[in-house]
Amino acid sequence: MPPLVRDPTTGLDRLALAHLPTPLDPAPKLASALGLARLSVKREDLSGYALGGNKLRQLDFILAEALAAGADTLVTTAGSQSNFCRSLAGAAAKLGLSCHLHLRAATGTDLVGNLLLDEVLGATVTFTQVTDPWDSQIVQELSNIAAGYEQQGKKPFIIQLTGVSAATAIAGWMSGAAELMQDAEAGPGIPDVVISVCGSGLSLAGLALGFKHLSCPTRLIGISAQQPAARLKAWIVTAADAAATRLGLSCRLTPEDFDIVDSEIGPGYGKPSAASVAAVRLAGRTEGLLLDPIYTGKGLAGLQASLRSGLVRHEHSVIFVHSGGTPGLFAHADAFGTDRAA
Ligand SMILES: *Cc1c(COP(=O)(O)O)cnc(C)c1O
Repeated sequence: MPPLVRDPTTGLDRLALAHLPTPLDPAPKLASALGLARLSVKREDLSGYALGGNKLRQLDFILAEALAAGADTLVTTAGSQSNFCRSLAGAAAKLGLSCHLHLRAATGTDLVGNLLLDEVLGATVTFTQVTDPWDSQIVQELSNIAAGYEQQGKKPFIIQLTGVSAATAIAGWMSGAAELMQDAEAGPGIPDVVISVCGSGLSLAGLALGFKHLSCPTRLIGISAQQPAARLKAWIVTAADAAATRLGLSCRLTPEDFDIVDSEIGPGYGKPSAASVAAVRLAGRTEGLLLDPIYTGKGLAGLQASLRSGLVRHEHSVIFVHSGGTPGLFAHADAFGTDRAA
């Protein structure tokens, strides 16, 4: 078993696969293009093996549990261009575990972007016709797959971020919240605002619970890439509650503790929008920073929308979480070809 580290924020054991701390880079040219006083980028895209991203912090905790349970085969589900699944496939290879990804076919089956990397990393890939990640049918399909491995004498371990693994995933990002604040104190100072893009909302739940636990006054804004604000907010509060209970924390998250902006979902989850494509170009051309049009491009477009609405003010100091996902850029060349910048 690889060495475990005791995480001081949550008191849980984790692996140390992720390369932490990730850098906090100043982004002055992007700040001036946006009209912001100060902007730094937390580089979760540089968090380590298999091209990094915001899932590695969660995997350090989840895989510590999997190894403690004696698992030899990891089974999970997500969209077919999932950054999480690609990170999991990379982690499994590194740890010498098998990895079975049961992916939603509706998000595309072409061997490009993350799906190509899943193949390179040696994961077994099957497809499901389920289209909604919250559909309970997917839980049944995962247990059928796990049962098949058990019959072969294997020790499968089911990971489902929006299900059994949620509390552990939140712990991963509570620890990220502590790191973010340490970086800020050592660098640009505690920011007025942190912006992070949300899919499931788990990383935001961890950041929000972490800020609350650490009494950090920073306003946290999640930009939704997937769900309407009301549904996402309710789910984040519920998931954070379960995590707080499990960790024995005295604080609880309330809906007033963070904002969700849902103006940037565009044509839907996993689909680029004109604003996200423009935001990807803006970050590329001002800072040499590579975003993707599904998550981080929508996140930056959400920061722009928040400046327009007044939720973020021009005199604010902002940290933007670059949650990774750049491999997804290579699956969306079309969105750029048909929308060339002048
Ligand atoms: C998964 C992912 C997100 C969203 O994180 P959640 O914790 O699911 O909200 C954001 N950006 C990238 C690049 C991701 O892969």
